[in-house]
Amino acid sequence: MKDTFKHQGMRQQLVETLITKGIKDEAVLKAIGKIPRHLFMDSGFIDHAYVDKAFPIAADQTISQPYTVAFQSELLQVKPGDKVLEIGTGSGYQCAVLIELGAKVYSIERQQELFKKTSKFLPKIGYRAKKLIFGDGYKGLPEEAPFDSIIVTAGAPFVPKPLLSQLAINGRLVIPVGDDVQVMTLFIRKGPKEFEKHELGEFRFVPLLEDKN
Ligand code: SAH
Repeated sequence: MKDTFKHQGMRQQLVETLITKGIKDEAVLKAIGKIPRHLFMDSGFIDHAYVDKAFPIAADQTISQPYTVAFQSELLQVKPGDKVLEIGTGSGYQCAVLIELGAKVYSIERQQELFKKTSKFLPKIGYRAKKLIFGDGYKGLPEEAPFDSIIVTAGAPFVPKPLLSQLAINGRLVIPVGDDVQVMTLFIRKGPKEFEKHELGEFRFVPLLEDKN
């Protein structure tokens, strides 16, 4: 599959839509304008790639809505060289956005089918994560901590303690918390035991599940 002028044009329209919805971060908008989202979907569905909607991928999971990806990415305030942990690799789209922002990305996926598919696909289109891991994101990745930021891309029924403890000082955790509906929550680590908490509106995600599958 290719990236054509038509795709590029549709992508620019998507970027305009995100701007009207309130996304301001230039680096995030540039990343979304650059990444061929249609390649992250099965070929029969590529007409859906540049509308601002979530879409089914393999293993009953979804590629997040572009607005949600942009919103979460903006909250992370990634600086080039930051060490970032993602929970829920899925299609790899969010991972590609983080790599475009200059992050060194570690990403965990609990569905083996998706893990395998995305591990092959991302390098094929030029996106190299530091490490893609098949495992359970509830535990984080203690051997690589601390992280400058951590992003959870599935709805968490509660905030896993290991994720807070694996943040660097001034590090940021962005996590949608809740069962049916999730509240986007930002934690900023101010000290060893001190966290600032911000709640930033409601979103809907597939659930963060325990253990791997
Ligand atoms: N970031 C992805 C979004 C995928 S949807 C993208 O851009 O496409 C959320 C993903 O989280 C799913 O792939 C799901 O399998 C995964 N997931 C759910 N619970 C998990 C857990 N405990 N650890 C790791 N991944 C998990």
